[in-house]
Amino acid sequence: MKRTIDLGAGVLETIGAVADRERLEAYVVGGFVRDALLGTQGKDVDIVVLGDGIAFAGKVAEELGNRSLVTFPKFGTAMLPYNDGKIEFVGARQERYEPGSRKPSVETGTLKDDLLRRDFTVNAMAAALNSGSRGMLADPLGGRKDLKAKILRTPLDPVKTFDDDPLRILRAMRFAAQLEFRIDPAALRAATDMRDRLGIVSQERISEEFLKLLSAPQPSTGLFPMQETGLMNVVFPEIAALSGVEQRKEYHHKDVFLHTLKVVDNISRETGNVWLRMAALLHDIAKPRTKAFKEGTGWTFHGHEEIGARMVKPIFRRMKFPLEHVLYVEKIVRLHLRPMALVDEEVKDSAVRRLLFEAGEDIDDLMKLCRADITSKNPRLVRQVRQNYEMVARKMAEVEEKDRMRNWRPALNGDEIMEACGIGPGPLVGKLKQAVVDAILDGHIPNDHDAALQYLHSIKNKVLE
Ligand code: ATP
Ligand code: MG
Repeated sequence: MKRTIDLGAGVLETIGAVADRERLEAYVVGGFVRDALLGTQGKDVDIVVLGDGIAFAGKVAEELGNRSLVTFPKFGTAMLPYNDGKIEFVGARQERYEPGSRKPSVETGTLKDDLLRRDFTVNAMAAALNSGSRGMLADPLGGRKDLKAKILRTPLDPVKTFDDDPLRILRAMRFAAQLEFRIDPAALRAATDMRDRLGIVSQERISEEFLKLLSAPQPSTGLFPMQETGLMNVVFPEIAALSGVEQRKEYHHKDVFLHTLKVVDNISRETGNVWLRMAALLHDIAKPRTKAFKEGTGWTFHGHEEIGARMVKPIFRRMKFPLEHVLYVEKIVRLHLRPMALVDEEVKDSAVRRLLFEAGEDIDDLMKLCRADITSKNPRLVRQVRQNYEMVARKMAEVEEKDRMRNWRPALNGDEIMEACGIGPGPLVGKLKQAVVDAILDGHIPNDHDAALQYLHSIKNKVLE
C-alpha cells in the first residue's frame, strides 16, 4: 500500500499553502486518509495542525473567502462548511481521562499524541499538507498494515481506548459494517467486558452511529457482533430479545434474530433507504411477546404485526430517531403480512384495493420487505413464495390500473359530510366518512363524488340514529 496519497489540487492545496505561510505543520487526518487509501473520497475533511487549530482555521477561512466558520473555543476546534461537506480543524492534542470522569483534560501534544487518542489505527493516519512533504503519510501506529488486513484495532490497549470514550465500542461495530472489516479479538473481548459503559454516552451519539451501521452495505456485519458482545442488549434490547425465539423452520430461519439479520441484509441490497431498513429490522419485533405454542401447528405469533407496529413509536422516542419517520415504519410493520394474504386465487378485488389504499405510496416498499422476508433455505419453497408475490404484484397492478388507488382521496371530505347531514364536528363525521370509504373500497359504489353523496344520503338516517 502506498506511502503517499494524492491530495489533488483542491482545497487541501490551499490549506497547505496557508500552513506554509504561517510556518505551521498541517495534516489531513482520519477518515479522509483512510478512504483515500481505500480508493474512495470522503466528503468531510479533518485537519490537524501543530499549533492553534482555531486561529489556523480563521486564516484558512479568510484565504478561501468563506465567512461561515464556526468555532468551538471550549473544545479548541473549528468547523468550516465546504461544498456539501465540512472541514474540521483541531490543534494536535493529548487527552487525559481521569478515571470516573467523562471530560478529558486536554493539553497540546505532538502529532503522534493526537493519533494515539483516536479510535482505530485505520483512522489514525495523517497525510502532510505542507509543500515540502505534501501527501506523505504519518503512520506511527501501523494503520496501513491494518487497513490491508481489514482489521479494526485500537491504537492503545482497547480497555483504555474504550474506557476513555465508550462510544468507540459501537463505532467498532459501525466501521466493521461500513468498511467490511473484522474487529480485533482483543477489542471484541474489551467490548464484551465494557459494553455497559455505553450507558454514560448520550443517546444522540449512539443513534448516529447506529444509523450509520444500518446504512452499511451489509448491516449484519455490525449487528451480529453487537449481539455477540452483548452490546445489542445495552443499545437495542428489543432486537437482542429476538435471539433464541424459535419459529417453524420451513418458512423462516429457526431463530428470529438470525432471520431478522437476513431480512435486513436482503433489503439492503434493494434499498439505501435507512427507514425501510429500519422497518425490516423491526418487522418481527413483537414475536417474543406474542409467541404461543399451538398443538399441531407449532409456534404461533398472532397479532405480532399490530403489536409490533405499536412498539415502533416508543422505540423511536427512546432511541431519539427522528419522529417524522414513525408513521412510515409503523405502516410497513403493520402491513407486512398482508400481501401474503392476497395470494389465494379466490381473493377479491376489494381486498387488493383495501391494501393499496392503506399502503398508499409506500406499497412498493412494502413489497420489497415481503420479498426480503423470504429466508427459507428450501429452494423449492423460495421459488413458490416468490411466484406468489409476483402474482400479488400483478393483481395489484390490475386493480391500480382500474381504480388508481395509490394517491386516492376519499370522494367526500368532512365538511361536505357535515353540510349534507346537517351536523357539526364530532365522531359521527368520522363514522359516516368511514362508511363511505368502505362502500367504495368494497366496490359497492364507484369512486366518484355524486355516487358517494347519494350513498351518504341513503345511510345517514340509520347511522345518525
Ligand atoms: P465517516 O466516513 O463516517 O465520516 P470518519 O472516520 O471520518 O468516518 P468521523 O466520526 O467523521 O469518522 O470522525 C473523524 C475522525 O475523528 C475519525 O477518523 C477518528 O480519527 C476521529 N474520531 C471521531 N470520533 C472519535 C471518537 N469517538 N474517539 C476517537 N476518535 C474519534
Ligand atoms: Mg468523517
